[in-house]
Amino acid sequence: MRSSRAHTIQRMAFSFEVHATAEGGGRRGQLTLPHGVVETPVFMPVGTAASVKAVPQSLLEEIGAGGKGAQIILANTYHLYLRPGHELVRRMGGVHRFMSWERPMLTDSGGFQVFSLSKLRKVTADGVEFRSHLDGSKHFFSPEHSMDVQIALGADIAMVFDECVETPASWERTRESMGLTHAWAQRSKDHFELHKHLVPWSQAAPDVSPGNAASEGKAAFEGKTQSLFGIVQGGMYADLRKESAERLVEMDLPGYAIGGLAVGEPREVTREMIARTLEILPKDRPRYVMGVGYPDEIEEYARMGVDMMDCVLPTRAGRHGLLFAQGEDGSLVRMNIKRREYAEDQGPIDATCGCMVCARYTRAYLRHLFVAGEPLGLTLNSVHNLHFYLATMERLRTELRADPV
Ligand SMILES: [Zn+2]
Repeated sequence: MRSSRAHTIQRMAFSFEVHATAEGGGRRGQLTLPHGVVETPVFMPVGTAASVKAVPQSLLEEIGAGGKGAQIILANTYHLYLRPGHELVRRMGGVHRFMSWERPMLTDSGGFQVFSLSKLRKVTADGVEFRSHLDGSKHFFSPEHSMDVQIALGADIAMVFDECVETPASWERTRESMGLTHAWAQRSKDHFELHKHLVPWSQAAPDVSPGNAASEGKAAFEGKTQSLFGIVQGGMYADLRKESAERLVEMDLPGYAIGGLAVGEPREVTREMIARTLEILPKDRPRYVMGVGYPDEIEEYARMGVDMMDCVLPTRAGRHGLLFAQGEDGSLVRMNIKRREYAEDQGPIDATCGCMVCARYTRAYLRHLFVAGEPLGLTLNSVHNLHFYLATMERLRTELRADPV
């Protein structure tokens, strides 16, 4: 009986069900994680340093169609490792409790930031030595260390440590890097399996006040652990993408990401690489494209059968005054709120948008906030853009539910 109980607990900690698949491959599904259920396809706002920039958690819980809020958010391992440090986050009970976010979370492996932000990298078979972009201090990340950091943070989903090649890279260089990524994925998995029980929410962690729902305690998480996803690499080469996907699938991970895309290549190439990789990845596992994209892109990829996506774009664009809206013909409108033409515009950003910003504020006021450098402008712009992304996914989920093959 022991083994059957263990199996049930395992299933409760992570499960993925596909409820409907449309003709183009788009899937409507449900992902069950230790901190809650996620309806897919899903867009995950990025909370780089345990904060979705300029947006308080209470608003994150309310944006999107029907006021349901973000179902899952992402945090960056590299940033939290450097500041405030993963051991501090562990002592605070893990990243959920630290930032007071009780819904599911995902952490990346730190690989992408090590390769894109840090200075003086030295890559060996063992790992990567790099200098912090904050203070120049020297650090070393290996697959094992990335796992230790991600287990201390305690997101529901962790990612294997991968190497990201520069772009453009030759076929030979990409293949060599991919080999390293595969070796590191196996090492990540081995280390994760041995240490996943150390996640803060199933260990002795500081208690929080009784009034906080998060304090229901670790009983709710008994026997549950994080889940580790693989990352398919292979650059812009379809044959390498195929090889990488096949190698990762052999490792039998609960979910698979497609990494190394949206790094400056033409959109047709991104689409082609995603399509070729989806052909290989198992249909009963969630498929996650990392770091994409514009609202019309996330919709397109979800229709192809991608279940999860994340991107800093809605918040980053919002902080730069770029707002997304739906045109009358259904096309994507990119509105630059800085423009003088909005100075006395009494309309909302988007009359069809159901967000709290469009319900209350005029373009004239938002332009004024932006021009005057008022912090509220950053918040309101980010809230509208995030709502736009989440509402897009909700609309898509409704369509996919209604239209099974
Ligand atoms: Zn709006």
